[in-house]
Amino acid sequence: MEKPMLCDCMKKRMSALCADDAVKAALKVCEDEAEFAMKEQIHISEIESPTFAEAVRAEEIARLMKAYGLTDVVIDPSGNVVGRRPGTGSGPVLAIAAHLDTVFPAGTDLKVRQEGNRYYGPGIGDNASGLRSMLQVLRALEKGGVETEGDILFVGTVGEEGNGDIRGAKALFDGSRRIDGFMALDMCDVYTVQNGATGAHRWRLSIEGEGGHSYLDYGRVPSAIHAMCRAGALIADLDLPENPKTTYTIGTIKGGTTVNTIAARCEVDVDMRSVDLPTLEALEAKVLAAFEEAVRLENAHWPLADEAHQLKLVKTQIGNRPAGMRPADCPAVQSVLGAMDALNLEVKKIKPSSTDANKPMSLNIPSVCIGTGGETCLEHSLKEYFVADRIWLGPQTALLAALAMVGRRGEKGALA
Ligand SMILES: [Zn+2]
Repeated sequence: MEKPMLCDCMKKRMSALCADDAVKAALKVCEDEAEFAMKEQIHISEIESPTFAEAVRAEEIARLMKAYGLTDVVIDPSGNVVGRRPGTGSGPVLAIAAHLDTVFPAGTDLKVRQEGNRYYGPGIGDNASGLRSMLQVLRALEKGGVETEGDILFVGTVGEEGNGDIRGAKALFDGSRRIDGFMALDMCDVYTVQNGATGAHRWRLSIEGEGGHSYLDYGRVPSAIHAMCRAGALIADLDLPENPKTTYTIGTIKGGTTVNTIAARCEVDVDMRSVDLPTLEALEAKVLAAFEEAVRLENAHWPLADEAHQLKLVKTQIGNRPAGMRPADCPAVQSVLGAMDALNLEVKKIKPSSTDANKPMSLNIPSVCIGTGGETCLEHSLKEYFVADRIWLGPQTALLAALAMVGRRGEKGALA
C-alpha cells in the first residue's frame, strides 16, 4: 500500500480556505473556546452511556446541537443523534461522527477529577473528547459565519464499542440517507491519520451432542471436546498473508462437565481480522469449513454411534466489523492531510484502525478517522485520563478538512 501524500490541488484548496476571513474566525473560535469546550467534555463524560444504553447522553447531545444553531436534529431509530447543517442544497453531504457509548457499565462512578491539565474519569477521552471536538466544529462554523456548499451532518453514534459492533454507523449507512463522505472523531492523537478499517469477523462455534459415560459408552458416543480438538488442529497451521496483515485466534474455549464424562458440548469464540475484505472472507470460509470437517471426522471415527449421538456444529456470528482501505487519493484522507499541513501538524502515522469508519470504508465511501486533540491514556480502564494539551488542534483539523470536502458556498467540494 503506497503511503498517501498530500497532492498539490489539495494544498491549493487549503491555502484558499485559510485565507478566508470567516474560516479564520472559525479557527480562532476553536482556540478561544478551549476552556469552555473542556468543561463541556467533562459534562458529557459524566453522563453515563454504556453501549446499548446511550439514550440520556444522546438527548443531551441533541439539546446542545440545537442550542448551537441546528434546527434539523433527530434521533434515528437506532438511537443515533443526527443534526444537519445545511448547505446550498446542491453540494455533497459529509457526516462528522463521534460515538456516544463507553465501555463502562451503568453505575460506574464517572465523576471527573482534575489535577493540573489532567482530567481523570472513565470515558473522558474515549469518546467524550470526540463529542466535544464535534460540538466545537459546529460552534466554530456558526460563530465564524461559514457558509458551505454541501451539507454537514453532525452525528453522535450508538454502539461503537465491543458488542455494539458499530451498529450506529451501520444504521447510518442503511441506505435511508445520502452521505458522500465520513469523518470519525475518535482517539485523541492529532498526528495520526486512520485511513483504513481493520475488519473483524467473530464467530461462536459450538459442537453439540448427547455425551455419555467415559467407560460404559466408549465406542458409541463421539466427544464434543475431541471434535473441537480436531478443529483446533486443522486450523492451527493456517498460513496467512503478512500483507495485508491477517490474523485469527480461538479466543476462548469451554466445554465438558467432569473427567469421566464424554463431553456433550464444547464451545469456542474465534476472532479473525484483516484490512482486506476478500482475504478476511476467504479465511472465514476456511475456518468454518475446518469446524464442519472436524465434526465429520469425529462422527466418522465412531461408526457405532447412533443418529441421536451424532455431533453437530452450531455457528453463531457474534461480530462483524467490515474491512476497507482508502486509496491514497481518497478525498477524505487528502482533506485531512491538507488540514494538517495548513496547521503545521506533522503526519507521524497513517494506519488502519477499527472505528465507526469501518462501515463507510467497506462501502468505498470516502472516509477517515482523526484525533480529537489532547491525549488520552489508559482508555477502557477506570484509570483513564485525558491531558488537555492544545485541544483546539482536533476541531481545527476537522473543520478545515470538512470545509475542503463540502466546499464553501459557491465552491465545489472535494467530495463533489
Ligand atoms: Zn472510541
